[in-house]
Parts: sequence; structure tokens; C-alpha cells
Amino acid sequence: MKLAILGGDPVRRKDFPNRVSMGPEEKAAALRVLDSDVLSGFVGAAGEFFNGAKEVRDLESAWASRYGFKHAISVNSWTAGLQVAAGAIGIEPGDEVICPPYTMSATSTAMLFYGGIPIFADIDPTRYSLDPASIEARITPRTRAIVVVHLFGYPADMDSIMAIARKHRLKVIEDAAQAPGVLYRGQPVGAIGDIGGFSLNFHKHIHTGEGGLLVTNDDQLALRSQLIRNHGENATEAYGVEDISNTIGSNYRFTELQAAIASEQFKKLPAMLEHRKQLGLYLDQRLESLPGLTIQKLEPGSTHAYYMYPLRYDENVLGVPRSVFLRAVLAELPRPRYWDTTPLAEGYVKPLYLNPVYQQRIAIGRKGFPFNMNPDVAYEYPKGLCPVVERLYEKELLLSPLVREGMSKSDVADFADAIEKVVSNIGELRDAKLEAGTGVYDAVKAIDDYVKPE
Ligand SMILES: *Cc1c(COP(=O)(O)O)cnc(C)c1O
Repeated sequence: MKLAILGGDPVRRKDFPNRVSMGPEEKAAALRVLDSDVLSGFVGAAGEFFNGAKEVRDLESAWASRYGFKHAISVNSWTAGLQVAAGAIGIEPGDEVICPPYTMSATSTAMLFYGGIPIFADIDPTRYSLDPASIEARITPRTRAIVVVHLFGYPADMDSIMAIARKHRLKVIEDAAQAPGVLYRGQPVGAIGDIGGFSLNFHKHIHTGEGGLLVTNDDQLALRSQLIRNHGENATEAYGVEDISNTIGSNYRFTELQAAIASEQFKKLPAMLEHRKQLGLYLDQRLESLPGLTIQKLEPGSTHAYYMYPLRYDENVLGVPRSVFLRAVLAELPRPRYWDTTPLAEGYVKPLYLNPVYQQRIAIGRKGFPFNMNPDVAYEYPKGLCPVVERLYEKELLLSPLVREGMSKSDVADFADAIEKVVSNIGELRDAKLEAGTGVYDAVKAIDDYVKPE
């Protein structure tokens, strides 16, 4: 079979199904709240409604009890949740916080809002999350916390990371935005560390357009989080808070309307995780033995939420650059109409430290705060800082968002067929000497390149 990129017939022409996330249950829940006429139950002062009203509290208690978290605290985005977490654990100007550079940017920028200085450690190329050895190498007397990300839905090496945190008395924030309901060696992620949470934005497993949920087993951290969520300055006296540092609040409150929808979405999470697992394991089977591609190895007791399906590409084996391989696979499949029908993308995100905020060390104001808080230390973020991440970004990582609701095993089989076809005909592709293309074709650019939905 001739490759489609060289003029042959493609593996599939029919569009992949869109994701449809809202059903009759969500619609009924939304109408119930509209009928009640109470779209938010929060009051910005101590008292019965300081922590919201019925829908918000029902969501929080359902989530907490389902996974055995002592506290669940809804927020209007997980970006806000990360800021709340940074404030609650007591990050203050000049504190160093170890973060991975291969994640959504808010994981590290949230620390900057409290004057924390992100220090980037490299990742383990099989888990795609922080490498414990690299964390240890970055610890200084100024280190205060570690932010762990369970990237693509697979848990980080929490046993090793918690051991390091205990040894150096560091706080641990878990960014589990991509990993709701995931188990690490039998334990639900989110509150293995001190505090953590989940995103409910449009692209995540379950969503309410925007939203987030913070979890912790620590009563003090829960109270401090609630204060930051909702104008804490009005409530510290009533709640007898002695250490008022970092308790000035914002308005990160979740609405009743969103919470009612989230509660219905939450009921669907177990089925979603099971479905994604079936698709992920099927792809593993299909792709495992192909030369030049490496699937993610799973350990017993840990689960994968398959926010995306990751693959590692080896140009030395296949003999063409990743971007040429990617274009050849895409040519075999229907043209994406939006992110959810993009079959494959490369690179994920640029290592965060290469962004201007770190290169110029300009975050809050123009004088260099907080990078100038430790006058003896010159913070620098040179290229080469995290070689594993740079290699994954530039050459090795491929990601598919097709492991999701709405996709059947036969849809995913077409995707596997396309990959298999390109690998089997890699000699033709090599001989064709196609241009490597300019820059990295990532999922975000893929959306810009294609027609947006009506
Ligand atoms: C989505 C995401 C966030 C941000 O969540 P929002 O709810 O969009 O603010 C943070 N970290 C990671 C790893 C994410 O995937």
C-alpha cells in the first residue's frame, strides 16, 4: 500500500467522532439550579455561606468521600487552585519551589504570585513526570516545596518524591489536573502530598467549561484554602486564625450552576476511565512491537487516566525526523476539525523555562520580583537545563488525544493501522526525503491550522 502522503489511498476518510460531553443529566441539573434562582451561594464573610451553598457542598462532599479525601474545595479553575495551594502551604517571597518544566504553564506561574521562585527539575522519560534524582540535585536551603504533575494521567513516582520531601521538610503540591480518579500504587492521587487537585476545564476528562477542585487531608490547609478562595481577610477573626499570612483572599468561588453540572459529570468519571483504559491498552497491544516507537510502561497498582496517549519516537531507528513521520500518519487519517479529532501531535509544550517570564526574569512588576529576592543567587534558566524534557519536546514525544469518550475501538484501530502503515513503509518515506517542516507541530497549532467548529 502506497503511503497517502506520497499519493496513495489513506487508511480512513470518515471523520473521527467529536467528543460530546453534556447529556440529559447535566441539562436537568443546570435547569434545576436556574429554577432555584440561586446561581451562587457564597457570601464573602464568615457564616453559614462562607463556603457556598448546596450544589457546591454536595459536589465537594461527593468527591471527597468517593476517594477518601478529608477535604475537597471547589474553585473556579485549577489555575486558581494552584495559587490557593501555594498560598495555603505558606509560600513566601524568595522561597524556591521545584517544578517540572513539561506541564501546563500554570503549574509554575502559580508559585510566582506568592513570590515563589520556580526551579525546574528534569523528568523521568518513562513516567513523563519529575525525576527524583533531579529533584534532589536542585534542593538548596531555600527550597520550600515541590509541585508534582501526574502528566497525561499517569502518576509520578510519589514514594520516592515523598521520601525526599520528608527528608528535607518540603511541602508537596500535586497537580492532578490530568489525572482525576487515578491510583498510585493503590492510593488515589491528589492528597498523597500535602495538597493537590484537579481541573474541570473544557479539555479535561470531566468539565464544567471552567473549574477546579482542591483536595487535602489537612484541616489547617483546608481552612487556609477556603480563606484564600473567598475574601479571607473578612473571616480570619471569626475563625480564630492566628497566623494570618497569605490569608488575604480572592474570589475563586465556584458557582451553583457549575457545581450541579460537575456533580453529574463526576458520576460519569469511572465509566470514562474504564473506556479510556480499554482504548489505551488496545493501542499498547497494537503499537508495542513496532520498531522505533516506545509505549508507556505501566506498573502494577497504578492506573492511567489517558488524558492523552503518549508514545516515544526514535528517529535513529526509523530514519526520518519525527515531524515527517507525523505528517505521514496525519495524511492517512481524516483532517482534524478541532483538538478532539486531532489524531496525533508532537512535542507537547515548550519547556516552560524557555518562556520570556523565566528568560527575562520578569513576572510581577518590572524590577525582577521575585527572582531578585535572594540577592546572592542569580537565577538563570539556560537552554540545556533539563535535557530529557528538551529531547522529548524536540525529537521524541508523540501524543494522541483520541483515547477518549465517543471513540470506539474500531475508530482507534484505524489510528493504529495508520501508524502501522507508515512504519511498514518507512523506507519509501525515507527515500522521498520530505522536508522536516518548520517548528514543532503541536496540538495547539493543530487547532489553529484547521477549521474551527461552527
Ligand atoms: C489544565 C491544567 C492546568 C490548569 O487548569 P485550569 O482549570 O485550566 O486552570 C494546570 N496543570 C495541568 C497539568 C493542566 O493540565
